[in-house]
Amino acid sequence: MGQDNLAPQKRASGGGGAGGLPTTTTANGRARTMLPRGRQINKTFNNIKITILCGFVTILVLRGTVGIGSLSSSDAEAVNQNLIEETNRILEEIRSDNEPDDPAESEINPNVTYSLGPKISNWNEERKVWLSQNPEFPNFVNGKPRILLLTGSPPSPCDNPIGDHYLLKAIKNKIDYCRIHGIEIVYNMAHLDKELAGYWAKLPMIRRLMLSHPEIEWIWWMDSDAMFTDMVFEIPLSKYDKHDLVIHGYPDLLFEQKSWIALNTGSFLFRNCQWSLDLLDAWAPMGPKGPIREEAGKILTANLKGRPAFEADDQSALIYLLLSQKDQWMDRVYVENQYYLHGYWAGLVDRYEEMMDKYHPGLGDERWPFVTHFVGCKPCGSYGDYPVEKCIKSMERAFNFADNQVLKLYGFGHRGLLSPKIKRIRNETVTPLEYVDQFDIRRPMHGNSGSRS
Ligand code: UDP
Ligand code: MN
Repeated sequence: MGQDNLAPQKRASGGGGAGGLPTTTTANGRARTMLPRGRQINKTFNNIKITILCGFVTILVLRGTVGIGSLSSSDAEAVNQNLIEETNRILEEIRSDNEPDDPAESEINPNVTYSLGPKISNWNEERKVWLSQNPEFPNFVNGKPRILLLTGSPPSPCDNPIGDHYLLKAIKNKIDYCRIHGIEIVYNMAHLDKELAGYWAKLPMIRRLMLSHPEIEWIWWMDSDAMFTDMVFEIPLSKYDKHDLVIHGYPDLLFEQKSWIALNTGSFLFRNCQWSLDLLDAWAPMGPKGPIREEAGKILTANLKGRPAFEADDQSALIYLLLSQKDQWMDRVYVENQYYLHGYWAGLVDRYEEMMDKYHPGLGDERWPFVTHFVGCKPCGSYGDYPVEKCIKSMERAFNFADNQVLKLYGFGHRGLLSPKIKRIRNETVTPLEYVDQFDIRRPMHGNSGSRS
């Protein structure tokens, strides 16, 4: 398809095409929804054929009702027969017009390396030209690089409605953070590429957003099961001037231990540049679901310490790529662990009260974690690695811990970290200042340090 395919992926470049806000224009860049010219002509022909067919049928019906006096009955039968044959022929023709890029027909060839789209090799130059032609969309505003946070979840409802409830809480949390810090946000629920379903869905979307939004300097992916728990902390982006990928992790776990949890792909940032497109291209080939993902999973399990046997996941694939092609990529990768760009929930959620006693938001590290990520909880699915009650309770605590920091701006706060569904207990033996929360845990109304900090 060559470079032609670039056009619908990008926002209108140059001249008067740049109207509207960045988030409203071809945000998801779904080139597929636009029919190629050949197919449009085909469709038009089909429409004409259907119109003619309708005309024939109308004549047939009218003739049957009104009757054509001048024709003998055998003539009329011959005309009828012709009409039926013509009708069948046209129907057949319409049916045989196959749609060349229907998903069902484009089977993946295991001998050809999977690609995210047509190769792009001059993105830095193209983007530079675009930025110079669209000064109303600068990539730096008041000296700060423009950031777009991308998150998403599967197209269908969760297995359990509580999962959808926590998806809602998690996006509310992200909207709050982005609103406070002037970050744009995109929520994707589509599988833009049928091969890259599930946790791989972030790759094609990141690529499309880079191409559709040249004005965005950093694309920040965040999992749906990750929440901001420090609403004040900001990513120190100036630290990464010489880097194009920022990801939470530990270099020794990566290079010495080759651990499958050396990096976490629940929260990371890509600079909008050619290097990032190249890395995405190198990262994607293990993603196609089915035999490719299954086989790649075996390679990953064989090479990464601690990895259970399962299909290839995006995190293991990235770790494997960076390990096996270290010289090619690592000089532009910043492995961050000075603050919790991703923070593993299990060590954090039980310490929120202690944090509120001792510290304050804005620190981002173990004293007040920037992000709490519910790795392995699968709140939207059925098969998590942890008991669902433990996960839900912990997510509720993280949400309220964060939401208190938002409500505080307006002079409010949650009573405790477990949302009270305040049911005043009528039982005489319980003082009216007690309530039970949704987990039926009885608490004093005034107690808990989860109130405004
Ligand atoms: N995801 C998505 N579309 C899907 C399935 C998953 O965008 O169809 C995203 C979602 O944001 C999810 C992330 O992929 O949080 C990674 O999956 P998960 O968080 O369940 O993995 P874990 O962090 O537990 O390893
Ligand atoms: Mn996750």
